[in-house]
Order: sequence, then structure tokens, then C-alpha cells
Amino acid sequence: MQYVGAGSIAARGTCGNSGDPILVALRAPRFASAMTDPLGRRSAKHLARDAPRAIEHPADHARSLAEARHDAIECTACPLWKDATQTVFGEGEAHAPIMLVGEQPGDSEDRAGRPFIGPAGRFLDRALIEAGIDREKVYVTNAVKHFKYVPRGKRRMHKKPADAEIAACHQWLARELEFVAPRLIVALGATAARSLLGRATPIENNRGRVLTFSSNAQLLITVHPSALLRIPDEFKREAYLRFVADLKIAARFVNP
Ligand code: SF4
Repeated sequence: MQYVGAGSIAARGTCGNSGDPILVALRAPRFASAMTDPLGRRSAKHLARDAPRAIEHPADHARSLAEARHDAIECTACPLWKDATQTVFGEGEAHAPIMLVGEQPGDSEDRAGRPFIGPAGRFLDRALIEAGIDREKVYVTNAVKHFKYVPRGKRRMHKKPADAEIAACHQWLARELEFVAPRLIVALGATAARSLLGRATPIENNRGRVLTFSSNAQLLITVHPSALLRIPDEFKREAYLRFVADLKIAARFVNP
């Protein structure tokens, strides 16, 4: 099994589609974050933050999943990178038969740099096991790669990404889909479905059915595990079993 882990940055000067030269604006490398300008007042990160914005499609340059992961570290294609700790790219089996797509990293994921490791991730892990899916054999990612939140005291409260942020980040999800080439994509919730389908899609009307996504991949829509955490206790068990039932449909693609 090839497992895709975190890496370093990369920058190129031509468009992957057309070959035309393009200006790629990268954030300052992490090792430079403590540097100051000649007046000693502003860090290199702040200088880079205020630099002219030129990136629209930094994901175009990657020639592999590992390169896409590296390039995404420095993405500034929407404003969400500014307040987040780091890019949280997908991880898992590089050619997994199924890809699980969530919304965005949460507080724990933002700090650790890994998707689905917080409370919703643990809930998902439990449901995957019950559905007969080995998380090591799937690829998990999010529609949006930076944590969007509003500060509330010492806490950082999740805030739903805007349509423009979902659209800006779709380029990374598209490259993950291209390189992993799963046979089944599982959209966990409305943001994932919106990113994948390019439009608002009612979850309840479409969940639990295998839909055609492309000539090579099918799509299964279900709820995001964090939504299940918010359900009142008396309904939680039923909602959980329904979620597991959806994942059992996905299990057929892992264990045909
Ligand atoms: S959320 Fe996505 S598009 Fe926006 S800066 Fe982060 S990686 Fe780039």
C-alpha cells in the first residue's frame, strides 16, 4: 500500500493545461515566518500576505498526488489560508477504490494537519468499522482544505465555507480525484455534494443511492458525521444506523 503523507512546497512557472507562463504567488516558507523586513517590523509571512495576488489555479501544476499535496501547502487561492494553521490535504491509500469527501477541517484537524481526526472523525471511524470498511484502504479528504472559523473566547467555532471558497478549493479536490481515481466517491454532507456536483444538492432526497458521477466513478451521497453528533440523543442511534447503512453500500466497492 502506498500511503500519502505530508511534504514540502513546490512552485512552477507554467500553466499545466496550456503551458503558458504564469505568475505563481506562494506564501513565505514556514522557516521564514520569523524573518523580519529591513526595518525589522514585519515578518516575511506578512509581507507575502500583502503581495499582489496572482494564483487562481495552483493545482494545475501538480503531476502527481504527492505534488498536489506539496503545492496545496502554499495555496492562497481564497482567503481561508490567512487564519488557519495549515492546509489539510487528503490522506490514505493512493489508489483507493473509494474516496470520502467531507466539508472542511475542524479545529483538531487544523492543528494536526490531518483530515477526520477530531470528534467527527472518530465517529466516522466507528461507522466505517461497523460498515466493514478499513479506513486504511480508503482515501479521506475535504472539499475545502483550510479551517474556516469564528473566534469565540478561546474557542474557534466552525463556520460553513462560502460558495466562492468551495469553488476556489475545488481545484485541489479535482486533482485528488484525478490521481486517486476512486470507483466510488462518498460525499459526506452538503458542502461535499456542492463541490462535487457544482450545485446545491438536497442530501435527504439523494442519500443512499449510487449515482453516476463520471464514466469511471460513481457517487454516493450521505450526511456528514458532524451532523450526527448534533442530533438529540433520542434520535442519535437511529441516525447512526442509517449512516452505517449508507456506508455499507460503499463497502461493496472496497470488498467487491
Ligand atoms: S481553502 Fe482551498 S482554495 Fe482556499 S486557500 Fe485553502 S487550499 Fe487554497
